Amino acid sequence: MILAGMTLNELEDFVTGIKATKFRAKQIHNWIYSKSVSDIDEMTNLSKDFREELKKIAAVTDTKIKVKQVSKDSTIKYLLEYPDGDCVETVLMRFDNRANLTACVSSQVGCAVNCSFCATGKGGFKRNLNYKEIVEQVLAIQRDTGLKVTNVVFMGQGEPLLNLDNVLKAIEIFNNELQIGARRITISTSGIIPGIKKLASLELQSTLAISLHASNHELRKQIMPIENKYPINELKSALTEYVQKTGRRITIEYILIHGFNDTVPVAKELAGFLKDIKCNINLIPYNSVIENDYKKPNNADIMKFKYLLEHSGKKVTVRLERGADIDAACGQLRGKQV
Ligand code: SAH
Ligand code: SF4
Repeated sequence: MILAGMTLNELEDFVTGIKATKFRAKQIHNWIYSKSVSDIDEMTNLSKDFREELKKIAAVTDTKIKVKQVSKDSTIKYLLEYPDGDCVETVLMRFDNRANLTACVSSQVGCAVNCSFCATGKGGFKRNLNYKEIVEQVLAIQRDTGLKVTNVVFMGQGEPLLNLDNVLKAIEIFNNELQIGARRITISTSGIIPGIKKLASLELQSTLAISLHASNHELRKQIMPIENKYPINELKSALTEYVQKTGRRITIEYILIHGFNDTVPVAKELAGFLKDIKCNINLIPYNSVIENDYKKPNNADIMKFKYLLEHSGKKVTVRLERGADIDAACGQLRGKQV
């Protein structure tokens, strides 16, 4: 039995099943989620005999840190290995002026969506992660650093809305067992409409981030094959419905690719498209991925693009590049040892 990822109720059922008192479950829970231990032997307020008994049938975790890389800007990238040998990457970001520690987690091994600018999509899709494997990513960070993760973004490998049941269950565990509130969690999607509708009906309080990256159907189709299945105008209706149902402001993610989607006419068209959607905009200067010829935007174009959107009344931020020296920046995760 792997203890990490179990709820307090499940731990209670487990310990009473081996004739221990319910209180032991609280202690174990505290060791796993607050003290972030890796081993049953570290649970020093349990008697030696009980620990020995526990070790015969259980372990804290079966997930290994295979590679750990630390960037100049202190971003850490982990390559984690699950017992079946499959690996994913998880990134820990610190923002110097805040006490926040943000984990960027993966939801799938690989990704089937295959956006042209993203390294993850290049390797194809392998499988969904189960909810415990998602939770393990945050716990692995906590065990390794001894720090508490305060925010989670589903912006690692995979498309979270194509693995929604496991993502929702992981969020429940983040909320209840790890005390990471729903509002400190962001789900980023390439625009899977049925998933967005499901989130709207659940009135989830987490932030929804949409990888839009283009201002019209023709442009979006060139970089995101998902546009053929879920076209931008239908996406817009789903987003409007989402905002109506949840009352939450969404985030629009927009990669700026030099000479492709960072021009003045595109900025104006985008401002028009987003006019009636309650959203903030996060501009992401393209990060290089070896497999394609896209170029980073230049600073003047980024500022002009930002200005035009701000002029339309939106709040616009430019995403800081994190961990590019260790290939941990957006779109650079490929899940392989380099
Ligand atoms: N699959 C989900 C979540 C993971 S990707 C999604 O696509 O939304 C997280 C963000 O990084 C997305 O907005 C994605 O479009 C962006 N991204 C992918 N490749 C990138 C690259 N080469 N440079 C900058 N951002 C990239
Ligand atoms: Fe998948 Fe997101 Fe990468 Fe597109 S950007 S291939 S949806 S991980």
